[in-house]
Order: sequence, then structure tokens, then C-alpha cells
Amino acid sequence: MRTTVGIIGAGPAGLLLARLLRNEGIDSVVLESRDRGYVERRQRAGILEQGTVDVLRAAGAGERMDREGLRHDGIELRFARRRHRIDFPALTGGSSVMVYAQTEVCKDLIALQLREGGPLLFEAEALAVEGVTTERPRVRFRHKGQEDVLECDYVVGCDGFWGVSRKAVPAELSRVFERTYPFGWLGILADVAPSHDELVYARHERGFALLSMRTPVTSRLYLQVPEGTDAGEWSDDEIWDELERRLETADDWTLARGPVTAKSVTPMRSHVHEPMRHGRLFLAGDAAHIVPPTGAKGLNLAVGDVTTFARALTHRRDTGSSDRLDAYSETCLRRVWQAERFSYEMTTLLHRFPDASPFDERIQLARLERLALSRAAETDLADGYTGFPLE
Ligand SMILES: Cc1cc2nc3c(=O)[nH]c(=O)nc-3n(C[C@H](O)[C@H](O)[C@H](O)COP(=O)(O)OP(=O)(O)OC[C@H]3O[C@@H](n4cnc5c(N)ncnc54)[C@H](O)[C@@H]3O)c2cc1C
Repeated sequence: MRTTVGIIGAGPAGLLLARLLRNEGIDSVVLESRDRGYVERRQRAGILEQGTVDVLRAAGAGERMDREGLRHDGIELRFARRRHRIDFPALTGGSSVMVYAQTEVCKDLIALQLREGGPLLFEAEALAVEGVTTERPRVRFRHKGQEDVLECDYVVGCDGFWGVSRKAVPAELSRVFERTYPFGWLGILADVAPSHDELVYARHERGFALLSMRTPVTSRLYLQVPEGTDAGEWSDDEIWDELERRLETADDWTLARGPVTAKSVTPMRSHVHEPMRHGRLFLAGDAAHIVPPTGAKGLNLAVGDVTTFARALTHRRDTGSSDRLDAYSETCLRRVWQAERFSYEMTTLLHRFPDASPFDERIQLARLERLALSRAAETDLADGYTGFPLE
């Protein structure tokens, strides 16, 4: 098999890249190790930055998002049983975010790719990426029990944190920057209308809680839990009781309960692999970097990376200059590190750290008070949350 761009992984990064390239008339093949149903059901992110919304629309993949997605103009911070709203458009000159689940983004992109795009092979597991410093890199893969080779001009590793593409960068050239947090998020999906019309981020002495949503009738809620917690350790009632405690306010707000349809624990880590390019291999999305979910940045960074790659390759085709491809890693990393910083700040602002001293806790509350009192502090948060521009 032969193509211009071999894409490993059909998460949001790989699927969107295939769409962007197709729109530019550049052919690609996507290899995805899982089956279609698994990819379409995998519960993950749900907040799309303004820039992500714009890219999906421009790619012709925004129709259902615009119909069914929920535009959000702010978030609420809760601490000391008080509520403080951050108004995004007022602080940023008009930006907002869109609540539209990653599962739906993937379903839309898969349907478009199968209808209009190049090959998208499910149950096709990449085994190794080879020859990335030559003009003809290759991906060895297994599809339905048969081994095969995909020959390409470029390979883009969109295969997530556990994928194989990162391994093709020699260890002596790789630098990894990492931080793991001593807690995770226990997340539930529940068939109940959200109890607030915007996301609520709560700092509580028992730990962080987040009230989020997927649709007007589906809530997504999270609790900070100790690292290594098994979701099965918590009954549904215990989860609702704990959410109620952590989200409690001094006014008459109440939390509506409903049937829990999914329950899982997400570990919290920050991870950056540098460089994001080696020869003709380009890493994109979670294959190159992970952020803790507090800032809702993971999916949005993936979109930024593949947009940068697609523009750079189009520039190469149109002008003959590979300057932008050569600068891919530096260009992406500037944005990645801003998102890492923002996610780190949101995480340390809102979570309870097991080794926090009383001094640390007072500082955390003072940071929240500052957000409630200072427009400059609010603007900084609103800027980060609605997203850093693409270069
Ligand atoms: C449990 C969980 C919860 C999350 N929650 C949030 C959240 O609430 N908010 C937020 O912003 N972000 C969240 N994230 C992060 C966000 O979902 C990711 O940043 C986003 O999925 C990145 O997209 P991606 O395409 O780079 O990687 P992925 O979505 O991981 O896609 C990688 C794809 O590659 C495939 N693959 C892997 N190895 C191979 C191989 N060898 N051959 C072929 N295919 C392969 C995988 O099956 C997968 O389909 C969460 C992540 C996880 C894991």
C-alpha cells in the first residue's frame, strides 16, 4: 500500500488530519487498531475551544456540532460555598466554548471520511514505524490477521499516549517532561439534566468536584479521588452524596440525581515529549503530550497540532518550501507549553493535595479570592480556557 501521509490512529487527531488533507487534495491512509464501535463510544473530552470549533466548521465537519452542541459563555467557580462566574465573551472580546462530546466529533469525522475521504482501516494495528529519516518512511501493520506495509512520504503518529510512533524517535534525541498527580478523577455519565447551565469547578476541603454535561439531558460529573482508586469501590449513591457535599452552596442550589450509565477513573498527569518531529515522522495529540483534564485542553491541543501539520504540508506543496514542516515541533510546542501551564495552574488551584500544609491551603483560597476580585486575573483564566491562538 502506498500513500502521501500515513496516519496512525483514528482518535480526534488522526480523523481530523485525514479530513484536512482530503480538503487540500492530499491523499492519506488512516490505520486504527480498534473497531469502529469502540472508537465511537470511548468517553473522553467534551469542551471545544473557539479555535477548535472554527477549524471543524471550516473543515466541513461542524454541521451537527452547530445543531446539537451547547455554546457556553462562562464557567462557575465554587469555593467556601460561594459561587463566582467567569464571563468569557465579556473578558476575551467575544470568545466562548462549545460543549460537544469527543464521541460525537469522532462519529462525525468517521462518517465524513468513509463517505468522502481516503481509506480508514479499523482493526489495523501499527506495529512499527521505520525509515523515518529516509524519503520513504514505512508503517508495518497488521490488518485482520495479515501483516502489511504502508509506504508513505510522511507519517503522522496520532496514536495516543500508548501508541507505537513515539518509539521511532531515538532515545538519545528524546526528552520527556513529566509530572504525575497523586489523585485521579472518578467520572460518571448520568441520564439527568445538568443542575447548572454552565460547568461548575468546585474547590472543597474534601477535594475537587466538577459538574459538566454532554447534552441538555446528560450530565457528566467528576470527583477527585486518590491515585489508584478503582471506580467499582464507589456505589452510585456514595458518588452522588459526595458530589452534593463538594458542590454545596450557601444559597438554595440543589443537585439533581439520575441513573448512572458509565463510571471510570482517569489518572492525572502532565507529559511532554520533545521533539514532536523526527525526520518524516510527526507526532500529534496525545502521542506527544498529555495534560490533566482540568483545563479541558487535551482534545484541543490535538486539533492544533494536526491543523499546523496540514497547513505546513500544504505550504510545502504550494511553494516547495519545507520551512513550516521543519518548524513543526517548535511551532506546536509553544502552544503545548501554554496549555500545560494553564492545565497545571487550574489543577493546583482547585485540587486538594495530600501533602498540602495549612499555608498552602490559604494560598489556594487567596488565588480563588483574587479571581473573584480582579478583572485582570479573571481575564487571564478566560483567555486560557477559551484557547490559545494557532500561529
Ligand atoms: C479516560 C480519558 C478521559 C479524558 N477526559 C478528557 C476531558 O474530560 N477533557 C479533555 O480535554 N480531555 C480529556 N481527555 C484527553 C482527550 O480525550 C485526548 O487529549 C484526545 O483524545 C487526544 O486525541 P488523540 O487523537 O491525540 O488521541 P486518542 O484519542 O488517544 O486516539 C489515539 C488513537 O490511536 C489508536 N491507536 C493506538 N495505538 C495504535 C496503533 N499501534 N495502531 C493503530 N492505532 C492505534 C487508539 O485506538 C486511538 O483510537 C481524556 C483522556 C482519557 C484517556
